[in-house]
Amino acid sequence: MLRQILAILVFTAVSTCLFAKEGMWIPSLLQKYNIEEMAQMGFKLSAEDVYSVNHASMKDAVVLFGNGCTGGVISGDGLLITNHHCGFGQIQEHSSVEHDYLTNGFWAMNKSKELTNPGLTVQILVKMEDVSDKILRNVSDKMDKVAQLDSIQKNIEKIKKDYIKGTAYSADIKPLFNGNQYFIYIYEVFKDIRLVGAPPISIGKFGGDTDNWVWPRHTGDFSLFRIYAGKDNKPAAYSSENVPYKPKKFFPINLKGLKEGDFTMVFGYPGTTQRYIPSRAVDLIMNQSDPAKVAIRTVKLNIWSERMKTSPKIRIQYADKYVSASNSWKKWQGEVKGLQRLDAVNMKKASEAEFKKWVATDPERIQKYATVLADFEKYYTEYLPYQAANDYYTECIQRGSDIFTLAARFEPLETAKNDEQLKTEIGKLREYLASYFKDYDQTTDEQVWSALMKIYVTKIDRKFIPEKLIKLIPDIGTSNFVTKTYKKSILTDRLKITKLLDNFNQKSIKQLQKDPVYALFKMIRQEYLAKVDQNYKSITDNIRLVQKKYTAAIMEMNARKRLMADANLTLRIAYGRIEGYKPADAVTYTSFTTLKGIIEKDNPEIYDYNVPESLRKLYVTRNFGPYVNESGEVPVAFCASNHTTGGNSGSPVVNAQGELIGLNFDRSWEGTMSDIVYDPDQCRNIALDMRYALFIIDKFAGAGYLLKEMELVR
Ligand code: ASP
Repeated sequence: MLRQILAILVFTAVSTCLFAKEGMWIPSLLQKYNIEEMAQMGFKLSAEDVYSVNHASMKDAVVLFGNGCTGGVISGDGLLITNHHCGFGQIQEHSSVEHDYLTNGFWAMNKSKELTNPGLTVQILVKMEDVSDKILRNVSDKMDKVAQLDSIQKNIEKIKKDYIKGTAYSADIKPLFNGNQYFIYIYEVFKDIRLVGAPPISIGKFGGDTDNWVWPRHTGDFSLFRIYAGKDNKPAAYSSENVPYKPKKFFPINLKGLKEGDFTMVFGYPGTTQRYIPSRAVDLIMNQSDPAKVAIRTVKLNIWSERMKTSPKIRIQYADKYVSASNSWKKWQGEVKGLQRLDAVNMKKASEAEFKKWVATDPERIQKYATVLADFEKYYTEYLPYQAANDYYTECIQRGSDIFTLAARFEPLETAKNDEQLKTEIGKLREYLASYFKDYDQTTDEQVWSALMKIYVTKIDRKFIPEKLIKLIPDIGTSNFVTKTYKKSILTDRLKITKLLDNFNQKSIKQLQKDPVYALFKMIRQEYLAKVDQNYKSITDNIRLVQKKYTAAIMEMNARKRLMADANLTLRIAYGRIEGYKPADAVTYTSFTTLKGIIEKDNPEIYDYNVPESLRKLYVTRNFGPYVNESGEVPVAFCASNHTTGGNSGSPVVNAQGELIGLNFDRSWEGTMSDIVYDPDQCRNIALDMRYALFIIDKFAGAGYLLKEMELVR
């Protein structure tokens, strides 16, 4: 009972604070919903200065970097700053034992030495528009599920085409409020993006996994890229003739400093939040899905970590795979802790009870919403086993071992409908092979494959795996079975694969089908598609439609309040203040860290805390230049109360004048559950202080030439 009362109290507390700090707001609607509040908090600019389709505005300097990060343009020559962890894949790709940019850092020192990154894009938003009427025009709740979803999809395709007809732009349409609204986003997509500079991992990832998702923090999490365009300043494929992009707008960088309580705004591309999911969904995440995924990844990460210690080559090969897997692995653990602390399931149940009362008082509401909670109950009960099977399949098979990831790339060759398609698929595969084998170590992969196969066959409900695989269970995991399978497969050998592709025909398909790794992969996959995937998708669609209704009801219930649309990897604004917090009894965190703290953590015995010698020297000689705070220390990071999530990595953090003061890169450990439930007391975003980035560029790397193209506000 006490827990329930507590849950209701927390729920009420969160509800009343709901508009204080929580929120990732839509830039085109600032004038209507936010600008007044922002001004009250100290913001000095207008909504048009932030987002405008008529003249240059801040939005023109914020980019979607790759497929899931943000970056900010900081010079008139297209210089771009994002996180080290966002550019990590590119830095790793350029690294080898001979040129180990991960360990030593990389500084181009002039434009001709900047490194190209095939496949990397940067998107700049041209405009966003509410197209709900056009998308939902012929859709009603009375239609069946398939008809509803089909009409929406058809409308989306048509509207997208209409909007970009005759332009070189790209368009994306995304649902908001779980499908109750739709927005279109028009982008310019740049394809020639070059690496300009990155600090060594001992700065860019200082503190490693131990410090990740944790405040206080001392990570120099930044890297520099440059956008190149054709001579007409328009996006162009890579060419040595391309020139630095001239942006409509770039961020001036403030060196004057910040203090506790200052206004801050984060402008970027938050990926996913789930603010309106019911108690059943929260229960599933915290008690089933997150723990299962964490357990699987622990096994994989331990193997990788041990193998990476054995040679510099393997350390480089698995560096990127390791950090991407461990980032979510740690976040899920924090998320579970936070949800438990808030008693989130009961908190949600309390709001569902409120909802029930609200529905019961009005016949029209009863007609529209009376079945919503029961429908959730029914569909989530059906969903549980499929969600579990899907988690095991995704983690152990789909993105478990290297060799199964490669096997999946062969499937389109088998299913190609004509010669032309086959040629395209072979081309794609050939291209993939180079980067795949650069980062492949067979012994490491055998260990991972064997461990994950063992988990898969023992943990997944037997009814979801093929008979033949059940028979193999006693063998799976034995070193004999693993070695034999790998030895007989051509997928471990680039030359053999190339030979197969050189003359690919019907016989080659047969050869492929007989390959022990490919055959095993296909057998597992087909069973998954037939027994899990279909049902999983169908129930997901059912849940989506109930969720849409539930969210519509919440919007109706709160008609006079401002609600936040869940993040969906589109441009948003969060604002708050620089502020610390109290994570535990008798513990208070202040909001700035400094270089002094890096030196305090210095430990040459521990890889993640081994401070580079030249940084130690700069500290001892106090060679800080102008990059200091009022006490003469170099500031490193700060925490603030802006609501952010994954995707906000690399987001520009600006002050009241719109000048760049930081680069968002993480959240507080106590606030990792903020994608689901936001706790204003504990949720903090973590940003790199721009003064630290400039200090590293100038004093540490000797790349001060880059500062000349920036606008520094002193
Ligand atoms: N560090 C986080 C990430 O990499 C950013 C966040 O989620 O706040 O996804």
